[in-house]
Amino acid sequence: MSELKLFNTLKREKQVFIPIDPAHVRLYACGPTVYSYAHIGNARMAVVFDLLTRVLKTLYPKVTYVSNITDVDDKIIAAHQETGETIDIITRKYEAIYNEDMAALGAAEPDIQPRATEHIGEMIQLIGALIERGHAYEADGHVLFNVPSFENYGGLSARSRDEQVAGARVEVASYKKDPADFVLWKPSSDDEPGWESPWGRGRPGWHIECSAMAEKHLGLPFDIHGGGADLKFPHHENEIAQSCCAHGQEDLAAFAAVWVHNGFVTVEGEKMAKSAGNFLLVHDLIEKYPGPVLRLALLGAHYRQPLDWSDQVVHQAQKLYDKILRAWEELKDVDENQQKVILNDHNIMLALCDDLNVPEAFSKLNALLSSIFKKPEGLEDLRPSYKYSLIKSLELLGVEIEEVKEESNSEIAALLEERTAAKAEKNFTRADEIRDQILVLGYEIEDTSEGPIARKA
Ligand SMILES: [Zn+2]
Repeated sequence: MSELKLFNTLKREKQVFIPIDPAHVRLYACGPTVYSYAHIGNARMAVVFDLLTRVLKTLYPKVTYVSNITDVDDKIIAAHQETGETIDIITRKYEAIYNEDMAALGAAEPDIQPRATEHIGEMIQLIGALIERGHAYEADGHVLFNVPSFENYGGLSARSRDEQVAGARVEVASYKKDPADFVLWKPSSDDEPGWESPWGRGRPGWHIECSAMAEKHLGLPFDIHGGGADLKFPHHENEIAQSCCAHGQEDLAAFAAVWVHNGFVTVEGEKMAKSAGNFLLVHDLIEKYPGPVLRLALLGAHYRQPLDWSDQVVHQAQKLYDKILRAWEELKDVDENQQKVILNDHNIMLALCDDLNVPEAFSKLNALLSSIFKKPEGLEDLRPSYKYSLIKSLELLGVEIEEVKEESNSEIAALLEERTAAKAEKNFTRADEIRDQILVLGYEIEDTSEGPIARKA
């Protein structure tokens, strides 16, 4: 069995992954706040942790992947005030859209996708335990976590005390004992969502949600906690503090043993921001490109590195995907029941086990594709192995082969030929007519260096 190595943010090094219980590997990643469409930063997280889950599922008999839905949040309340739609309608709508959009990118729904609003009881219990142990206090209708009460606070992001105070984004409030203290529970006005609690009607702070849901569905400690690098501080730091302190633990690994963070996404070198007009939504991109192409583009850079999104990145991914499809056309009829073997040069699992080294996996995949296209004489018996390697690679990478009709549909093929002839005669009106005819049949034409290809629109 391959040995999996992962970079553990908590230990600041790449380590051999040793599950707490090899019979059941458990991981959690922070999911979306559902009040709007997901952007490609959200998508990168979903795709990276889907990939990690696929690798783990290849190595271990049972893996549980939990990723939550945050359906109570001030941004959701703001969306409700802005649109007049009820909070339930907003959150259910964007939860469904999120899952559909991620499915288009080949990211399977997590094994468990808990909603915050269905775990308020667990959160209240956790907050109660923190008060009892002297780590939290009630002030002015709020309950706050007292940061100086936990000596090991800040160990994940390794921030100094000054940076912690500056980074605690909550405004300095007079009721805070310490400027770094953060909210566990806050009061709700009558027109805001709220639940009865020992501290009055209110709602949870964001951080406590993940502590409660991870513990309920995975038990403590669990193996891997993931999320975007932007969540390291304060969100993940606060999750650790809450979960450790509620159980009287000092070791930061008493919550999750391994912390995995994916890098930022920028767009053509710029930070993505609504105000900059470069806010890319998955919902829009899947209208323009096949899901597997976007997935390959999102996976292309090593997951810990920043990913700079550009047309060029998508174009490269499209080229790779086209090659995969052509290779599949070559191999799809090869008998799979013959003897087969995955050569090391083609074994992307070896690359993925090295801290999800996708760039290395892609170069192995490209080596496999080149071998397939070479069609060496007298080596016909390697084709079942190539086919097997390709299927295994695509399964691991989560890249699905969409049904492609590359001139296999005779009517389309004849039209494509006629269009090529029309273009050669510079009869562009006729060429456009044929393109529209093909579109009516449900196919789009793409002109590649090797001639036109029709694919399902
Ligand atoms: Zn979280």
